Amino acid sequence: QSFEELGINPEIMKALYAMNFRKPSKIQEKALPLLLANPPQNMIAQSQSGTGKTAAFVITILSRLDYTRPKQPQALVLAPARELARQIEDVVRLVGQFVQGLTIQAAVPGAVERNARVESMVIVGTPGTAMDLIKRRQLDGSALKVLCLDEADVMLDTQGLGDQCMRIKAMVPRVQQVLLFSATFPDAVMGFANQFCPNANEIKL
Ligand code: AMP
Repeated sequence: QSFEELGINPEIMKALYAMNFRKPSKIQEKALPLLLANPPQNMIAQSQSGTGKTAAFVITILSRLDYTRPKQPQALVLAPARELARQIEDVVRLVGQFVQGLTIQAAVPGAVERNARVESMVIVGTPGTAMDLIKRRQLDGSALKVLCLDEADVMLDTQGLGDQCMRIKAMVPRVQQVLLFSATFPDAVMGFANQFCPNANEIKL
């Protein structure tokens, strides 16, 4: 199977080839047809780092944005630590390098000035910072379409992060697609995943 057959847009495809991604990885092959289907569907995916999961959710997000609204936050990716959020931000920039008008911003501690507004289409952040920004109305969550949580198992190992994710979800009423990735699914993670990401397709590598 090829990226073309998945219906990925040419600007994204050009970046994938520039990054030397010649064909979808296993998880991309399984996940992308479901992730890109309409109407949008939730997904809970088991996958380790190194499988290509980041590109899978980044391609999905870039495919769902309304490019006529560059200042409107439309996708929020949450990661358990700022370094990981920064790495995801880098992948969004790379996969989106040929996408005209794409705007991206990090919402991690120290990245956003007090009172500054977060006006980018894709926001990648940590739960505490993202939650504070929404509460303070620096980040408008009212038009977010995609909410993606990476490394849910690590998230739940850190006190308070799971709750913050749930509270963020309650503040973004128009989300159409919730995605959750985790390397492992012990009972606590499964319970959280089913609550955070209801009626989801479940895939496993
Ligand atoms: P991740 O699972 O997101 O941690 O990604 C693991 C690594 O795989 C990253 O270094 C990506 O650049 C790379 N990668 C992701 N998708 C592909 C692909 N389709 N072909 C080749 N490399 C890929």
